[in-house]
Amino acid sequence: MHIDNGTAYEALIRFLYQAPIGLLQTAPDGEITMINPMSAQLLMPLACDGDLTNLFDVLATVAPDLRSTVAGFQPPDGVICDEQRLVLPKAGEEPARTLSLSLLKLDQSTLMASISDITHAVQLEQQRIASRVRDASRIDSLTAMPNRAVVVERINAALARASAQADYQFAVLLINCDRFKHVNVTHGTTVGDELLKLMAWRINGSVRLGDAVALTTVPQHTTGRLGGDEFVLVIEHLREAEDVHIVVQRLLDALAKPYGIGAHQLHAGASIGVVLRAQASDNADLVLQFAGIAMREAKRAGGGRYSIFDLEMKERAQRRGNVEADLRRALAERQLFVVYQPILDLADRRCVSVEALVRWRHPTRGIVPPIEFIEVAEETGLIGALGDFVLQEATAQLARWQQLLGARAPQTMSVNVSRAQLGEADLVARVRLALTRNGLLARQLQLEITESLAAQDEVVKSRLAELKALGVLVALDDFGTGYSSLACLHQMPVDVVKIDRSFVSQAETSPHHGVLIEATVRVAQSLGMQTVAEGIETEGQAGLLAQLSCDKGQGYLFARPLPSGEATQWLLERSNDGAALAPRVSRSR
Ligand code: C2E
Ligand code: MG
Ligand code: MG
Repeated sequence: MHIDNGTAYEALIRFLYQAPIGLLQTAPDGEITMINPMSAQLLMPLACDGDLTNLFDVLATVAPDLRSTVAGFQPPDGVICDEQRLVLPKAGEEPARTLSLSLLKLDQSTLMASISDITHAVQLEQQRIASRVRDASRIDSLTAMPNRAVVVERINAALARASAQADYQFAVLLINCDRFKHVNVTHGTTVGDELLKLMAWRINGSVRLGDAVALTTVPQHTTGRLGGDEFVLVIEHLREAEDVHIVVQRLLDALAKPYGIGAHQLHAGASIGVVLRAQASDNADLVLQFAGIAMREAKRAGGGRYSIFDLEMKERAQRRGNVEADLRRALAERQLFVVYQPILDLADRRCVSVEALVRWRHPTRGIVPPIEFIEVAEETGLIGALGDFVLQEATAQLARWQQLLGARAPQTMSVNVSRAQLGEADLVARVRLALTRNGLLARQLQLEITESLAAQDEVVKSRLAELKALGVLVALDDFGTGYSSLACLHQMPVDVVKIDRSFVSQAETSPHHGVLIEATVRVAQSLGMQTVAEGIETEGQAGLLAQLSCDKGQGYLFARPLPSGEATQWLLERSNDGAALAPRVSRSR
């Protein structure tokens, strides 16, 4: 530094004295040769007995390596350390002070140090980090929605308010995507993530602040993501419980619209479970559990809808839980068995096929029908093992009948396959294995599917195509009960249409049902499909269906589902008596 006039020198001295920053000059061994008042003030708490002779000694406790660092600094000049933080020992209640030290080697004999108090800046920085951490622990990183912790807080706040205020209404909605797993499996997780972001966006867009259903107190609602494809909406300050229907319907409509992601147009839809104040428990986790129970009811009813929680639902869920535990044991302990119901040609009453139906010999409940456990098996993933068991039993049984009865054995074995099974990649391999293991031809096996949305679902569609390529027959079960309509029968890759029992049972009494059956038979025939009438219980029904040109029939009139021994007996008696147990019916076809 070259000082060339007195005024400038005085200015520099004034600056050194008054600067809000500590400046000092030392020899290479740390001996202080010049120190300004701010340095003295900042270093005093560290100076032993107020001794400010040597900088390295003063800083020994907070920068013990400084002396060796300086000694090891070889260049003739340069920055030895830049803004090194020195945390001073805490004094009383005050937060620990932090100094910042920069050390410059001017030449071989001179060091310049600057010291400043950065306690305040450090505090601000720590607050910023803390708030970032706090936010990160409260925000879902994918959707930027509040996460479970926030949702739980909001529910607890609503519960607390409800306990203090008798007329306070709130609702908790659990929103779950209907086809998220399918999207992830078919299009990959990146598309899946995009879908979740779009869902979050639509959910937020569907619940506007100042929504007509809520009073004007803030906050009126909280949207959040619990994880996976589960979102929550907490609506506080509801005007009245009924108003929740408006919001739920708006959400369902918004979420049902197709999602454009990259080149894909995806249909995902959602199911919503709702818990209202009246049914809420006193803790948020239980409220969410109840909402989950209601949401699953909505899904079971076909998805794309909502369901409002009630206590009966809870009891049903508990029963299902018990069934699940029992069913796992049933599979392990072989409590399941298969019964067989004959399917007859309606024209000559020959038994042409048999349907395999699963039963459960429960240790305490006796024989349990499939309606009480198939759904649970589907939901819990047990359906794979269960379906495999039925497939193996049924194909082995047909092989035994063929050995025993030769040409008089049923031509095909029909096995029910659920939608969940069709989603499994190894289904085709399992079917092939069951056939080869039992020496059967593919066309001797018929798989019955009830999922009428099958034609729109890519996974199901391609699985059905694989099965058909293998040569097995595919039947559309319970036709007329679901979404399937005659108009879209041509899109179904099926060989057989099974007309549901609800139509057959009214065929004689309701002309409307009669017409529908006739139309179904006609359309199926035109598409080259066979028809089977389910649940024939009277001769009248059998006669009428034969007249309407339905090919086959199945029902208590002919035989109930029979255990294998009794079914064998039935088939033997049939084949001995000759098939013609009933008069032939002339067919209109
Ligand atoms: P489904 O495939 O439509 O089977 C026909 C059902 O109607 C059977 O009930 C049968 O016992 C009953 N049924 C047959 N004829 C008559 C009749 O004349 N009157 C009356 N009232 N009912 C009759 P089940 O055995 O209780 O089976 C119910 C459903 O459970 C089946 O409907 C099928 O969807 C499912 N299911 C049965 N076994 C299996 C299986 O192994 N795997 C899968 N995934 N589902 C199965
Ligand atoms: Mg069936
Ligand atoms: Mg059926």
